[in-house]
Amino acid sequence: MSEFGDEYRAPLVAAARLAQNWLDSVPDRPIPPRAGIEQIEDALGRDLPAAATEATEVIELLAAAVEPGLIAMQSPRFYGWVIGGTFPAAMAADWLVSAWDQNSPLRAVTPGVAAVEELAGDWLKQLLGLPASTAIGFATAATTANLVALAAARDEVLRRAGWNVARDGIQGGPRVRVLVGEERHASIDVALRYLGLGAPTVIPADDQGRIHLDRLADALDDEVGPTIVCLQAGDIHSGAFDDFARAIPIAHDQGAWVHVDGAFGLWAAASSRYRQLTEGVADADSWATDAHKTLNVPYDCGVVAVRDAAALAAAMQMHAAYLPSSQSTELDMGDRVLELSRRARGVPTWAALRTLGSDGVAALVDGLADSAAALAAGLDRLDGVHVINDVVFTQVCAAFDTAAVAEVADRLDAEGRVLAHPSHWRGRDVLRFSVSNRATDAAAVADTIDAVRRALSA
Ligand SMILES: *Cc1c(COP(=O)(O)O)cnc(C)c1O
Repeated sequence: MSEFGDEYRAPLVAAARLAQNWLDSVPDRPIPPRAGIEQIEDALGRDLPAAATEATEVIELLAAAVEPGLIAMQSPRFYGWVIGGTFPAAMAADWLVSAWDQNSPLRAVTPGVAAVEELAGDWLKQLLGLPASTAIGFATAATTANLVALAAARDEVLRRAGWNVARDGIQGGPRVRVLVGEERHASIDVALRYLGLGAPTVIPADDQGRIHLDRLADALDDEVGPTIVCLQAGDIHSGAFDDFARAIPIAHDQGAWVHVDGAFGLWAAASSRYRQLTEGVADADSWATDAHKTLNVPYDCGVVAVRDAAALAAAMQMHAAYLPSSQSTELDMGDRVLELSRRARGVPTWAALRTLGSDGVAALVDGLADSAAALAAGLDRLDGVHVINDVVFTQVCAAFDTAAVAEVADRLDAEGRVLAHPSHWRGRDVLRFSVSNRATDAAAVADTIDAVRRALSA
């Protein structure tokens, strides 16, 4: 037994025990944190000690001090944002990634984890129905996946217009028009800001948040020149999907690059029951999705997919004398994302896919959407409650006749059984439920409906 390894044993065993304690508490603990930042800082101790502390002691202190400030995001009745739980294999694989400590931008240097990420990328393409030649990168999240894809898009549409961004930047070049739907996610706007493209041209959406096709066609006709169109698979309020089969050909007819933000919705393609929502999506030029939402892997893992690998490489590739240059024609892992030093964050995704199998991924997607449908039906039956979106996938927006949404959310919070976030959609205050956790089963849905009934009658 090595001395090197010995040092790790006690803190890792302690971490495993403390992690298990946390996981055991998740289903029944109140979901919201019961302590605030000040209190946690007090418990941790604010001053950096001069003297060393033994590793296991640090881990024990950390877990004990932080526990009251943890929010049970893995709870089957947590519906905030679009979050998702964690499959055991994915969580355990994530621990191995930390233990292995492979800095993984370069395939040749870290062949073990590179192989895992390559296979995970291939499986994702199969499951999501993307073209086989597509380059896949494991990014930190859908926000950065959108940024990477849109960087490739910007450079490529300008290249086609005879402008070299790498050499000349974007100032003085042709204007790049970016057309987005009214209900795109805010991460599209921030990506455009990072990329120096400014605010996009906003195309109105229909009553479910889908981009209006005639208005898109009109806007495309208005002007010629380098153009990017951003579509969406999964509206965070309604769950709606843009009509890819019609929108993508309209955009391509005008020479536009089409990017699809499918942070949680692209996964509909993995299910034979929900695949029709994504019909035509494979004809886009780039896609962004998350593994940490629908696939239920730990934070953080987003996925960027770009049909034209050369365009992706041209935007992201880094050269330096001290880095070994790739001997293969495959793009290095670090050439597909923003990061050079990078965690092999595709490994937990591989583990989730490997433990589920393709049937399991389809069943996961079906289960989330079925739970959302059951939740919507149950809420709609409550007096004074209206589900105001067409529940096509995993998102449910409820409006109330007799109570303010903020008040209902507060009462749910105080009870701690259910967490959902207030929002505002299509002119109405709504309580928004995202069903993203594999653990949200029929019992959790029934509990949720009961909790909302209690909150309304309180
Ligand atoms: C969550 C989400 C994003 C951002 O994803 P992160 O993983 O939080 O960066 C982008 N688009 C849509 C539609 C989303 O639901």
